Formats: sequence, structure tokens, C-alpha cells
Amino acid sequence: MEERDVVIIGAGPAGLSAAIFTRLDGWSTLVLESNWVGGQAAIAYTVSNYPGFVPGDGAILVENLEKQATSSPPQGVGAELRRENVVRINADERIVITEAAQYRGKVIIIATGSTMQKLGIPGEDIFRGKGVSYYAKRDVGQLAGKRVLVVGGGNSTVKSAIVAKAAGAAWIGLAHRREALRAYPNMIKRLEKENIEIRYNTEVVEIKGNGKVNSTVVVNNKNGDKEEIAVDWVIICVGTEPDVQVARQAGLEIKGSSVLVNEKMMTGKNGIFACGEAAGADRRLITCINSGALAGVSASEYLALERVRKGDMFNGAINGKYADEYLSML
Ligand SMILES: Cc1cc2nc3c(=O)[nH]c(=O)nc-3n(C[C@H](O)[C@H](O)[C@H](O)COP(=O)(O)OP(=O)(O)OC[C@H]3O[C@@H](n4cnc5c(N)ncnc54)[C@H](O)[C@@H]3O)c2cc1C
Repeated sequence: MEERDVVIIGAGPAGLSAAIFTRLDGWSTLVLESNWVGGQAAIAYTVSNYPGFVPGDGAILVENLEKQATSSPPQGVGAELRRENVVRINADERIVITEAAQYRGKVIIIATGSTMQKLGIPGEDIFRGKGVSYYAKRDVGQLAGKRVLVVGGGNSTVKSAIVAKAAGAAWIGLAHRREALRAYPNMIKRLEKENIEIRYNTEVVEIKGNGKVNSTVVVNNKNGDKEEIAVDWVIICVGTEPDVQVARQAGLEIKGSSVLVNEKMMTGKNGIFACGEAAGADRRLITCINSGALAGVSASEYLALERVRKGDMFNGAINGKYADEYLSML
């Protein structure tokens, strides 16, 4: 079995940021990612709330983050990244089991982020990838000439509708179950200019089709009126929920919907840390990156303490502290 000082599950903003901090202290660090690198941030549109990043595509921000984490010095810190899906972890033995291999980590950092929240309606699962998608960015090439219904009321919903319009969709509707959108006023102004049909107080209750989507059933939640609308594509943007599958299976404590961690981002199991949205960070890049950095720094401190505990009074400093300073912390 391969061994590393640190094994990180998830190459989203939190996982990559944790990797930067563990590698800066010289710990061998492996990041495992089941999907695309960058997590949700890779499908974010214009990120305008990340200090120091001129408003731009979320994909650019995470490309830089990936380079910083995985390139060899001096461009980056040289963390290893493998595209493997983690199926479970053995928390007591600190073994991470993927579909391809097993890794023993002195530390494991869970940065599994969030999954897209579903509507939970008939047809949603059947037509996923056949006309049902979550946020528009990755499907943008398929929307030209289509009738598209976007569901939700936040900034990403509005942006998905605008993006679908720019991609040449033939008709775009936006269904929101409340009376007003949640998006920023400037986003709503942009939407209003785009000739997009907005239906307030409207819930989508079924997606129908034959091999691929051809209609949705919507209900007006004020008067109960039902209507079937002909559409080719439904873009669901109704939020996300923390992905705690691996953590739950490992027996880690879940509080509310996220992994319970202490102020150092450590779970109830020694040497197992969690960060980002999986550990309850706000759904913002800045908080997830901060939480990943804190997990990385804490993991590094934990590893240094373990060395000293075993009598290894290393030379130089790790994470800004000398061995005797770690000794006094024990
Ligand atoms: C459309 C959209 C637009 C957004 N826009 C903004 C914005 O403008 N500003 C802002 O601040 N925030 C924005 N956000 C939110 C921001 O992107 C997230 O808060 C942030 O990406 C969360 O980081 P994370 O690392 O915790 O989780 P995620 O980004 O969810 O990354 C988690 C990673 O873990 C991987 N993973 C999960 N389980 C496993 C497993 N078992 N094995 C291996 N890998 C696994 C996932 O594939 C994923 O890559 C946006 C989100 C979306 C969806």
C-alpha cells in the first residue's frame, strides 16, 4: 500500500488550499479527485467577491490554484493529484480506499465539498444528462436552439439563464417558487434586459420526456394551477448540500448537515481533518479556501507534534516552530 504524510479527498478550493499549506512544510501530499479539478468553483461564472482576483471566470481562479498546488517549485509546491474516486476510508487505520488503490495517510483531510441539491421530482434522475443539468456552464454548448427552463432564484440561477441566452437558446424561462428573486439587484437588472420569461410562485413538479426531456409540469403555488410547458432542457440551480458520504461512512460525527470539526478543523478522530463546505464553511470561495488553509496548517502542526512525540527532535522549523517548541506543547 502506498503511504503519504497527507491524503486529501477532493480537489476543490478547500482541498487544494489545504494541499498548498501541507506541502509548504514539506509533507508528502496526495490529493484525490473523482470529478473535475476545482469543484464547484470551476463552474462558477464571474467571481467578483474574491479579494485580489479581478472579477473573472471561476475556472481561471481554480486553474491558478491547481497550478500553485501541483506544479513543481518555484511555480507551485508540488502536491500530487490523482483522478480517483474515494469510496471509503478506514478512519482508525487512516486508510483511504479508492476504486483504483489504497493509500495510508498519517493525516487524512476530507474536502468533499457539496453536491448539487436536487428538486427530488419525477423524471429528474431519469433525464439527468439527457436534458437535465445542474448549473449551465458545462452544458453551454448544447443549448443553442433549445427551449430551456432554469429553476431557482439565486445569482447562479440568473447567470445560468443569461448564459443560456448567450448560447443561443430559442426560449428561456425562469421558474422560482417565491415571489422575488434572491439574486443581487444588478443581476436582476441584467436578467430583465434579456427577454427571459420569469415565473414567480412557480414550482416544477415533474420532468417528462421520451429518451430526452420534452416537457415539464409546473404548478402555481398561489392558486394551484398546473401547466405543462414544452422544453428541451431543464437547468436546476437550487443550491447545494454538504457531501458527507465518505465522512459518515467512516463513523465521523455529523452535526446538522456537515462534518463536526474543532477549531483546528480536526474531526473527533485523531489525524482526520475536514474543511470547506463539507465541514460547514459558508458557500463562498473565500471561506472555503480559508478553511482549507487552516486544515492544512493544523495538519502540519499535528504531524510535527507526532514526530516530536516519537522522540524525533528534528532540525529547523516546521510551520514556524522548532522541535523544542512542539515538545512544550505536548
Ligand atoms: C455555479 C456556482 C457559482 C458559484 N459562484 C461563486 C462566486 O461567485 N463566489 C463565491 O465565493 N463562491 C461561489 N460559489 C461557491 C464556491 O464555488 C464553493 O463555496 C466552493 O467551491 C466550495 O469549495 P469546497 O472545496 O469546499 O467544495 P467543492 O468546490 O464542492 O469541491 C469538492 C471536491 O471534492 C470532490 N469529491 C467529492 N467526493 C469525492 C470523493 N469521494 N472522492 C474524490 N473526490 C471527491 C468533488 O468532485 C469536488 O471536486 C459558486 C458555486 C457554484 C456551484
